[in-house]
Amino acid sequence: MALQVEDKIFLIDCGPDFRSQAIAQDIRHVDALLLTHTHFDHIAGIDDLRIFCLRSQEAMPCYLSEKSQEELQKKYYYLFEKDDESVVRLNYNVLKNPRGSFKALGVSFRYFTYYQSSMKVTGYRIGNFAYVTDIKEYEGALFDDLIGIDYLVLSMQRKEGSYAHLSLRDIIDIQEKVRPQYCYITHMGHEIDYYDLKEYLPIGIAPAFDGLSFWINLENKI
Ligand SMILES: [Zn+2]
Repeated sequence: MALQVEDKIFLIDCGPDFRSQAIAQDIRHVDALLLTHTHFDHIAGIDDLRIFCLRSQEAMPCYLSEKSQEELQKKYYYLFEKDDESVVRLNYNVLKNPRGSFKALGVSFRYFTYYQSSMKVTGYRIGNFAYVTDIKEYEGALFDDLIGIDYLVLSMQRKEGSYAHLSLRDIIDIQEKVRPQYCYITHMGHEIDYYDLKEYLPIGIAPAFDGLSFWINLENKI
């Protein structure tokens, strides 16, 4: 997911289809990377960020949890080898606490932690928008971080849920509690028909799609 704030582009996760998505959406630079977790469907496009570092001649700031950094180092050991100019250069900023805030390139973000089976996942909030993907287990404190949200992205693979993903019922429960103006569902599996789901969903929840874009308000209402 790409987030543009003035002339900066922040990328949340970098999946295997990042290259084709970046071409389709005409993304010509990425200025910072925020990782939610290190399942391959969220990091497998990371090598394709190299071109942006070559162009800027700078290491790209990368925000991630301590656990994500450990996992990334196991899966992509070469990203951590110093002086290797042939790979993307990331400048790691470890988010040590389960929740908190940070500034990236002058822009304020909040972050919070939840789980997907045994995987620790980081969610991000900027202004009135929160990106909460790959959520399965969470604590009540999550709702404190989502107060005042207008745009909420949640993940669901199948309507009935699975060991790693929430069900549609779970999504509706969260939506009813948070009451955002718009709740978008991402991470849908191939069994889901976009139009069937769209018809079926209650008002205020819609399936996301490639190329979906909307304006957010950077003012934090917490
Ligand atoms: Zn995952």
